[in-house]
Amino acid sequence: MQVLKFGGTSVGGAERMKKVAQLIKGEERKVVVLSAMSGTTNSLVQIAAYLFQKQNELAAELIQGLKIKYQKTIDDLFENEASQQKGAELVESHFNFLLAFTQDSFTIHEEKAVLAQGELLSTALFQLYLEEIGIESKLLPALNFMRIDKDLEPDHFYIKENLHRLLSEAEETKLFITQGFICRNVYGEIDNLKRGGSDYSASLIGVALAADEVQIWTDIDGMHNNDPRVVDQTMPISHLSFDEAAELAYFGAKILHPSSIMPAKQANIPVRLKSTLSPELEGTLITATSSGKGLKAIAAKDGITAIKIKSGRMLLAYGFLRKVFEIFELYKTSIDMIATSEVAVSVTIDDDRHLKEIMEELKTYGSVEVDQAQTIICVVGDLIRSDKGIANQVLDVLQTVPIRMISYGGSNHNISLLVDASHKQTALRQLNTLFHG
Ligand code: ADP
Ligand code: ASP
Ligand code: MG
Repeated sequence: MQVLKFGGTSVGGAERMKKVAQLIKGEERKVVVLSAMSGTTNSLVQIAAYLFQKQNELAAELIQGLKIKYQKTIDDLFENEASQQKGAELVESHFNFLLAFTQDSFTIHEEKAVLAQGELLSTALFQLYLEEIGIESKLLPALNFMRIDKDLEPDHFYIKENLHRLLSEAEETKLFITQGFICRNVYGEIDNLKRGGSDYSASLIGVALAADEVQIWTDIDGMHNNDPRVVDQTMPISHLSFDEAAELAYFGAKILHPSSIMPAKQANIPVRLKSTLSPELEGTLITATSSGKGLKAIAAKDGITAIKIKSGRMLLAYGFLRKVFEIFELYKTSIDMIATSEVAVSVTIDDDRHLKEIMEELKTYGSVEVDQAQTIICVVGDLIRSDKGIANQVLDVLQTVPIRMISYGGSNHNISLLVDASHKQTALRQLNTLFHG
C-alpha cells in the first residue's frame, strides 16, 4: 500500500491534473490524497471572512470569480460531453452551496464547511477525470474516516477502524482518491487539520493503513537546505531523519505541515518528497536513520513572541520555572524556545491568542517584557558528529545580526536562534554561506 499526496499546485489546473493521473498509474494499491486547487483555500478563507462581516456582495463576487475558474478547468479537463456535463453539475452544486450563504445567515461555525469545498471539488473532478480516461478508482470521503478528538488531536483509533472498513468494502479497488485537510471534529461537524494540513492527512492515512511509504508530491524537488523563498542557491537534501525533517517542518519549512512527520516517525513509515514538475528528480527521503555529518539545513519560523520574566528573588527558588510553565499550560500555549539566567527567564511562543492573560498572571512573579514580530532561525544537522564546532561557525557568519536568544544542546541536531523579523533575510543569507564555504 502506498499513500501519495498531491498539493495545490500539483492539481492547480487541468494540465496538472492530467499529469497527476499519469504519475499514479501502476498495479500497487494506493490512496491518493489531494489538496484543493492552488489559490482556492485562500479564496474560501476570504469568502468566509466577507460573509462573517456581512459583506455579502463582496463574498458573492469572489464566489462567482472562483466559479469561472472551475468552469474553465472543466472545459480543459474533460473530452466527452457526458463528463463535461457531470463536471458542470458538480461545480454548480458546490458553488450553489457557497452562494446560499450570501442569502442566508452565516456564523463562524459554517466557516469550516466553506473551507472544505476546495478539497471536495478537486477530488470529485479528478475522480471524474480518471473515470473518463478509463482508470478505475473510488472516491473515499475523508469526512467518513478522518476525525479529531476533543483536544483537536487526530483520533487514530477511529481513523484506522473506519479506513479499514471502507477499504474492505471495496476489496477489488486498487486506487482510492480522498481529500486532504478536511475532517470531522468530536461533535461530528466539518473541521480541518489547519492550513497546509493535507500533508498531515497523508501521513495519518499512511499510518492507519501501515503503508510502505508516504509520498508528498509538490512543486519543488524535495526539502531544500534553506528557504527557497528567501535565499537563492538552495539545494535539495537527498536524505533526512524523521527528527531532522520534523524540526525543519515545525520551524518553518513550508513544504511540510509541522505535524506531518511525527505519525510517520512513530510507525516508522518512510516519507518521500517529490516534485510533480520534475518527477524524474530524486527528491528527499525521510527515514529513521540519520546520514551525513554537520550542517544540513536552515529554516525560519515567523510570527514569534518573546516573553522575558525578570525576578531576581524568585528565580533562585526552586519551583519557579514550574509556576511559569503552569501559566502557559493553563492557556494551552506551547513554548518553543527557552533561555534562563540568574535573574530572568525568556521564552518564545507562536500562538499569542492568550498573551494578555498570560502576561497578567506572569506579572505576579516579576516584571514582564514582550517582543513581538520575532523570527526563530533553526539550524539543523548532525551537530554532535560534526568535526568543527557548528555553533562557532553559526555565530561567526551572523556577525551583523543581533541575536535575541539562543538554544543549543537541547537535542543533537538543532540550534535555534531568535532574531527580530527585520533581520530574517540577512540571517538566512549569511547562514547560507556555510554551505558554500
Ligand atoms: P503544496 O501546495 O504542494 O502543499 P506548499 O506551498 O505547501 O506546497 O509547499 C511547497 C513550497 O514550500 C515550495 O514551493 C517552497 O517555496 C516552500 N518551502 C519553504 N521552505 C522550503 C524548504 N526548506 N524546502 C523546500 N521548499 C520549501
Ligand atoms: N488546501 C489546504 C490549504 O491550502 C490544505 C493543503 O493545501 O494542504 O491550506
Ligand atoms: Mg502544503
